[in-house]
Amino acid sequence: MAAVPDGERAPDRERVRELAERLLAAHDPKTTPAAEFLGARFDMGLAWVHFPPGLGGLGAPRGLQAVADAVIGAAGGPSAFAGNPIGYGMAGPTVAAFGSDEQKARYLRPMYTCEDIWCQLFSEPGAGSDVAGLATRAVRDGDAWVVDGQKVWTSLAHVARWGLLLARTDPGVPKHRGLTYFVLDMRAPGVEVRPLRQMTGDAEFNEVYLTGVRVPDSERLGQVGEGWKVALTTLMNERSALGGGTGPRGSGAIADAVALWRAHPGKQSPEARDRLTRLWAEAEAHRLTIQRARRGADRGTPGPEGSVGKLISAGLNKRIYDFCVDFLGPEGALYGSYEPRRPGQGNRSADGEVQRRFLRSLANSIEGGTSEIMRNIIGERVLGLAGEPRVDKDVPWRDVPRS
Ligand SMILES: Cc1cc2nc3c(=O)[nH]c(=O)nc-3n(C[C@H](O)[C@H](O)[C@H](O)COP(=O)(O)OP(=O)(O)OC[C@H]3O[C@@H](n4cnc5c(N)ncnc54)[C@H](O)[C@@H]3O)c2cc1C
Repeated sequence: MAAVPDGERAPDRERVRELAERLLAAHDPKTTPAAEFLGARFDMGLAWVHFPPGLGGLGAPRGLQAVADAVIGAAGGPSAFAGNPIGYGMAGPTVAAFGSDEQKARYLRPMYTCEDIWCQLFSEPGAGSDVAGLATRAVRDGDAWVVDGQKVWTSLAHVARWGLLLARTDPGVPKHRGLTYFVLDMRAPGVEVRPLRQMTGDAEFNEVYLTGVRVPDSERLGQVGEGWKVALTTLMNERSALGGGTGPRGSGAIADAVALWRAHPGKQSPEARDRLTRLWAEAEAHRLTIQRARRGADRGTPGPEGSVGKLISAGLNKRIYDFCVDFLGPEGALYGSYEPRRPGQGNRSADGEVQRRFLRSLANSIEGGTSEIMRNIIGERVLGLAGEPRVDKDVPWRDVPRS
């Protein structure tokens, strides 16, 4: 499975481009099934270029991922992020950083080919922004852990094969110190997934009830009690993945607005042109900022600056789709159908008519950490401003008052 034959030169920009072109020459994305194409891309080391050879990477600087993505994206190659956003964007980097050799060998390739969809079991009814305060318990029982609790907003849990589970293993120490991180088999007895419907009409996410679920200790990621450290890797990668800006110029949400403009010449006005042009310029500035940050990135976990991209992208997406529905006039209020849909592989609630995307964009400033929390992180960790008062920081979790 090793990607780069011994003796070939160390990966640089040109080398990554060459490999991407070689992949496209051997596997035409128009005729090759998506899983097969992605499998070949993984084997060539172009999945996560900063991962080691044999595990979907080349041991290259993380910033070179954009080179592979651009060449393969322009040729119409399938995207693992689109098919398995939590797997590609968050589970991959977490398993690579904290998994055993056996876990990396077992999980990464089917995750990348989207044969195994992943979900993230962090948020709970009483722990969203304050996810370190979560209450789901994992109690050691021989060579396994027994998990009881409830998770919520679990995107794609209904199609997921595996889940990233954060649970409390020691309630007697302060909240950040009593957590442990596991890979959860979503087919294990005691895992119950119930749909939650959103304002789009879709049920993209779920409540997940965990009742006496046995998780083998071999499915732990990181040390007992060090789950917060592992979770930070997931969260930093999540913010970086949600920051957008990775596609070519004019792609993403702004492409929808431009397409709408072109499709409705009768609705065009100088005011609308002015608004659209400003949004386009902002989208391009955001794209270039993200690309510059990624080019400079090494192979490690993204830092708190990922929160800047996530914050900007959430606000920009909302304003772009706001423009779209305003531009449509009364038609902007029409909605195809509120029939319940269960988005899964290749069928996300962000897809579909622009009105649906408008409604879905409202979640951008909540999912993956709210914009308020992004501002707190930027204030404290990027700008070095004084931290918020945190009264429960040194108190054992079990002694913190909660409703
Ligand atoms: C579309 C979507 C998909 C999601 N998918 C997943 C998933 O797959 N897995 C998962 O685990 N979670 C998921 N989530 C949950 C998401 O991470 C949480 O909704 C988010 O972290 C906010 O938590 P909360 O909803 O409990 O709100 P709360 O934390 O209760 O926040 C309520 C309000 O208070 C504000 N607030 C809270 N604390 C502070 C503070 N310290 N300073 C300033 N303001 C504050 C918040 O910004 C917000 O406006 C998803 C959410 C959405 C919308």
